[in-house]
Amino acid sequence: MPPTKSANPIIKISPRGATRLKAGHVWVYRSDITSTDVAPAGSLVTVTDQRGKPFGTALYSSSSQIAIRMLSRDSISDLPALIRERIRAAIAYRRTIVRDTDAYRLVFSEADLIPGLIVDRYNDILSLQILTQAIDTDIVREAVISELTEQIRPAAIMERVDPRVRELETLPSRPSGLLEGTKTSTGFTMNGVHFHYDGLEGQKTGAFLDQRENYAVAVQHAHGEALDVFCYQGGFALHVAPHCSAVTGVDSSRPALEVADQNAALNQREIEWIEANAFDLLKDYASSNRLYDTIVLDPPAFAKTKRDLDSALRAYKELNLRALKMLRPGGILVTCSCSYHVGQSDFLEMLAAAALDTHRTVRLLEIRGQAKDHPVLLNIPETAYLKCVLAAVN
Ligand code: SAH
Repeated sequence: MPPTKSANPIIKISPRGATRLKAGHVWVYRSDITSTDVAPAGSLVTVTDQRGKPFGTALYSSSSQIAIRMLSRDSISDLPALIRERIRAAIAYRRTIVRDTDAYRLVFSEADLIPGLIVDRYNDILSLQILTQAIDTDIVREAVISELTEQIRPAAIMERVDPRVRELETLPSRPSGLLEGTKTSTGFTMNGVHFHYDGLEGQKTGAFLDQRENYAVAVQHAHGEALDVFCYQGGFALHVAPHCSAVTGVDSSRPALEVADQNAALNQREIEWIEANAFDLLKDYASSNRLYDTIVLDPPAFAKTKRDLDSALRAYKELNLRALKMLRPGGILVTCSCSYHVGQSDFLEMLAAAALDTHRTVRLLEIRGQAKDHPVLLNIPETAYLKCVLAAVN
């Protein structure tokens, strides 16, 4: 259906911007805007090519380099109604793809056609993040909270604020905290493993839900003595513990390890937690010939921008070299990268080079990504960020 006329401000984009949209992407950079009506921060705009042919309706940011995020090929005037509809669709999609967990991502921004809104469910608490001017407006916030309340009936809705994002979007700073209800902590269970959740603490919105399906696959291969490096609150360590003779988790964050220890108690598991810089610890352990049967590497994103790619690959290689050296024959390596800028082929090349340098035979068991509740849109490469490779090492 061709887009109909609307009263939204009109923004014309360059042929380069148009090519991007025609390829199915939803972003237009500020440098690809050629002319614009006055468009208020966070408003709905109609995007057209040079000759005025409309592409559809988008959300406008007055400050981000990503000035335009397309919403629809149609003409939209009622944003709150559209957001409500898309939240319902995102929730319905999760019903078809999420199993064995009461913690999962309900809404994942562009991947659910709601650019700038992330909602994670931790059992009866919802944790949301708002990343764009349009979603931060009072009317959209109200629509989001009311739709989530109606659909999920949570005990509480919390907001996790990323101050850096608010600065980039020139939004006034605001604290993280409760938006609805009074409950701030709960417990959740994924793949039969129990976790504590505290909405006011922790990194990201609380847990690394994107690894949920990878935990379940790691369980199928893990054995013997296991080392979970960058363990955070123990996601991999707790999952593999029933299948391993001993498990050690390593992280530099003491608060994360304290929760990890509580999680171990909750699951009646004995796990050794070590607070250390993983690079130093692996160096020590590798040079003192410590050996393991299962090693997990799940570091933070080393490449925040494209420019960091080389240094990120060097860091990944250092970690993987050491882990490969420390695996007994028949050992299992679970190695991850959550840097979008390190592509899957870059990551596999790095791993191949590490295998060569250590004279190990590395057999790929699985090349995986993020759990399906963090959908990947085929036409938006940026929605695919997590790599998780499982390999058998001889
Ligand atoms: N595997 C975890 C998620 C890891 S996130 C899970 O499944 O839940 C990355 C973790 O690396 C964070 O917990 C962070 O505290 C830790 N970290 C960052 N830099 C580190 C370093 N140099 N040494 C050890 N841990 C580090």
